[in-house]
Amino acid sequence: MRVAVRWSGGDPANFEVTVDDDATVSDLKRAIESVTNVRASRVKLLNLRLGAKLAEDGAPLASIKVPKTVMMMGARDSVVEAMRELEALASASAPTFEDDLDIDASEAAVACERDPRFLERLAKRVESHSMKFTGGEPRVGAKMLVLDIDYTLFDHRTPAESASEIARPFLHEFLTRAHQANFDIVIWSATSLKWIELKLSELGVLTHTDYKIIGLLDSTAMITVETEKYGVFNCKPLGFLFSQKFPEGVRYGPHNTVMFDDLSRNFVMNPQLGLKIRPFKNAHTSRHTDVELLRLADYIEAISTLDDFRQLNHNRWEHYLATMDKRERK
Ligand code: MG
Repeated sequence: MRVAVRWSGGDPANFEVTVDDDATVSDLKRAIESVTNVRASRVKLLNLRLGAKLAEDGAPLASIKVPKTVMMMGARDSVVEAMRELEALASASAPTFEDDLDIDASEAAVACERDPRFLERLAKRVESHSMKFTGGEPRVGAKMLVLDIDYTLFDHRTPAESASEIARPFLHEFLTRAHQANFDIVIWSATSLKWIELKLSELGVLTHTDYKIIGLLDSTAMITVETEKYGVFNCKPLGFLFSQKFPEGVRYGPHNTVMFDDLSRNFVMNPQLGLKIRPFKNAHTSRHTDVELLRLADYIEAISTLDDFRQLNHNRWEHYLATMDKRERK
């Protein structure tokens, strides 16, 4: 007997398989595997029901009313494996501790910012490494938005079959609005460039037509600092970014740059430029409620008219927005 199958999100989306008249559900799944390369154990047949329940693998098809088109879900091993590999790579190259040190910007940071040992490390980094440019055109007069990935743009710890399930809500809207508000965007993650490119490609960030990312920075652009109070840790010194070669007339600096991260220790060399966002975790549940990027897009638009960000205290970004809202309502 011939069975028509529709594969949600798959390629081919529609196909037919032939099975023996005495075939079971399991035989049908194996036939589907031979067409789709989705392992039979991963094939879900949504409308193949026996009473109210999904038909079990051992059930003969003859005992079921097989619908005109069987609806299937499932991902190929290659996709699942790729995701798993990415997760493994991510955790291998992730910092050894994830909890923030809750660094008090006013004390530890000020000391780090001026520490000649750290400034020398930074200078060496600038000499030996450079940013990977990704095609976005740095614009004269534009401001700079630097974004972390893990827990900022997506939840890298929650297992999922596709990147869209763990992407932070409003990701593309946020990036589009920031771009339109005249912010050039750089993405900086404490992992490897290869991993960053893979993940951003999966999320559709590198190919989006409404905005273009200027460049990517990875762990090789970070430096290690040590402080008496917080011990040894790595951070993201924005001086590295400011020292890159940009087209004539383009200048990014403390006056027009803001950096979003869920870990405040990453700001320790530039405490005034960092905005510590709420981490995006437990994506499967929080993706229905998380509006952080939507609010941050409001903030980015609100500050885009300022000539100098050095007057801002990003720790109070929500207060700033609330005050703006009030003023607008008057
Ligand atoms: Mg992070």
